[in-house]
Amino acid sequence: MADIFHITVLVLLTVYPAYRLFRNRSVSSAAMLVAFWCSALVLGLDGQAVRSPEAFLLWKGAGLYAEALLCPVWIAFSLCYARRFSLREISITQRAAFVLSFIPAAIVAVYPVRAFLFAPDFAYEKVLFLEPLAFFFYLQIMLFLAIALFNLEATIANASHGVRWKVKFAVVGAGAMAMSFILYFSQSLLFRSLDMGFMTVRLGALAFGALLVAYSEVERGAEERIVISRSLTYRSFVLLLAALFLVGVGIMGEGMKLFGKSFNQYMLTGMGFAACVALVLLVLSEGLRRKLRVLVQRNFYGEKYDYRVEWDAFTERISSARSRDELFKNILIAFCETFGVVGGAVFMRGRHSRNFLPVCFHEMDSAETLFCSDGKLAVRMAQERAVLDLRREGTDFDAGEARFLKDVEARFIIPACAGDQMLALIVLGRPINMAEQYDEEDMALMGALSRQVAVVFKNLRLGDELAEARDMEAFGKVAAFLLHDLKNQVYPLGLLTENAREYINEPEFQKDMLDSLEGVVARMKALIRQLTHIPANPALDMRPVDLMELARDTAESMPENTVRFFGEPVIVQADAEEMRKVLLNLYLNAFEAGTGAPFDVHVGCETQPYVKVVDYGRGIDESVLRDGLFVPFRTTKEKGLGIGLYQSKQIVEAHGGTLNVTNVAGKGATFWVNLPR
Ligand code: ADP
Repeated sequence: MADIFHITVLVLLTVYPAYRLFRNRSVSSAAMLVAFWCSALVLGLDGQAVRSPEAFLLWKGAGLYAEALLCPVWIAFSLCYARRFSLREISITQRAAFVLSFIPAAIVAVYPVRAFLFAPDFAYEKVLFLEPLAFFFYLQIMLFLAIALFNLEATIANASHGVRWKVKFAVVGAGAMAMSFILYFSQSLLFRSLDMGFMTVRLGALAFGALLVAYSEVERGAEERIVISRSLTYRSFVLLLAALFLVGVGIMGEGMKLFGKSFNQYMLTGMGFAACVALVLLVLSEGLRRKLRVLVQRNFYGEKYDYRVEWDAFTERISSARSRDELFKNILIAFCETFGVVGGAVFMRGRHSRNFLPVCFHEMDSAETLFCSDGKLAVRMAQERAVLDLRREGTDFDAGEARFLKDVEARFIIPACAGDQMLALIVLGRPINMAEQYDEEDMALMGALSRQVAVVFKNLRLGDELAEARDMEAFGKVAAFLLHDLKNQVYPLGLLTENAREYINEPEFQKDMLDSLEGVVARMKALIRQLTHIPANPALDMRPVDLMELARDTAESMPENTVRFFGEPVIVQADAEEMRKVLLNLYLNAFEAGTGAPFDVHVGCETQPYVKVVDYGRGIDESVLRDGLFVPFRTTKEKGLGIGLYQSKQIVEAHGGTLNVTNVAGKGATFWVNLPR
């Protein structure tokens, strides 16, 4: 079973790179072929040595050559894999490293196998004991493989975002293969011996790496396009880790020599414990987490931030807010997390004042403070429109502003500008890690995020303005209706005062006048009552009403002898006060259309009870008919409001009836009110 697995892995390691070279004849394909074949050879020869102990020195002798050759082939592979290869681009140091990487091979060529190792009981125990020469031999191999890892790391670090996505897995896979050799050889540091019994694990690790490479290349393409900049930083994560690992293993090896085998156990337990504590610290400490994140980001990506990721996260946060308060909070949390600061506050420009008022504090002592639009801070921010780092730049502010900024330990002030307007100021508190350096990159990202914030704030503001405009419009409409009803009440009052001059002394007129005044007062009161609690759909007070009587009664408000009545009493269910409004609207319109000439009112019941107001005026204006007669605010009258017909139709329809019109231009109009039986 194990043999089948071994053979499969060896076939994978040999066939895949051959296939790749066949498909894509490039330097990197050739380098991959050599590196993979060499790796397969190392394991193949080791396997043979294990399988035939009697000839193991022979196989291991060949194996040493293969192991020595791992150094140059992996360095060469790492220098061209996924990169746009050009010999001239390879630095002197890298060339030197490549040449030096042949030293182990030279050593193998000079010394016989026995100078490297001995295995007294190889038939029973597959352990090779190392002579000092082999110890240094393997140390060198590990160092050269670490250089290959460093190169692979540089490949990732130099990839642009789009390309990095493509090669990430492949490069990590290749790194895992090189790493598996380092891990295996590190036994030499620990025990001064190599246990060859881990064959399946070693092959498994190699296969995993190779499969990752193959999967990534098949899925995401295998083009070589990453350009390595010469000014590559020499800060390397991988080298640091490799060095730490080797030093750690070395210390363990020395410790074991001094204190015996149990030292190994103590050391491992101690390290495991330390690692657990470190992990917990990392999870709990925002500062450490940020440091690690920035370290990884800077090292592998050459930048402190991945803009795409930051932008996405920020947008996600903003858009997930369900209320205004949550929005402000989310914005502050996002800023705090992205830039590693402790707290923040948003100051928004007031809608009716130009000052910046506090709208949200997050982990920052809230204070009754504001930034005046003509205060030094706001003026300066409006002029510079750039992020202000209070540590770097002067803090020449008004006393109150300076006190506030000092109290909350403010570090950054970020303006949110949309167009030529500064809509808000975001104050960020002290950094979690006081030693963190903030540079242009931080400022640029703060600026970019603040512009997004400004757009959101601008939308909020526009929304507010729209809501206010709607309120005003609604208010205007209510006012117009009120005015209309008042006007209709004032009309009979005017008529009354006019007649009073002549007839005030007649007892009969006095009685009529009192009746009329009483009626007007009652209707005014009803109007006031209605207005104090305007219901959305006023409920009708339905009672049996004689339409003829109501029609005659309403005509009391009109000048004498202007209305002629025809028909008979008809009892309907209606709200008398509301229907009175309808009739008065129709009377006044008919009266005005006929410029004071009499008009007719017919009351009766055919299929339905009806009231018909027929005038002999000029007919309805063409433009009014076209725009819609019953649409509010359409009027041809100088002092008209265009509400009467709209209101009438609403009332009639609320009764379940219809209001219709027939019109003959120049001859007059007829309005029909039909009510349900
Ligand atoms: P307002 O009387 O304040 O103008 P209305 O809604 O009562 O409001 O009437 C709207 C318009 O319809 C009037 O301005 C007028 O042009 C037209 N109109 C209404 N009734 C008549 C009518 N009987 N004859 C001619 N035009 C009319």
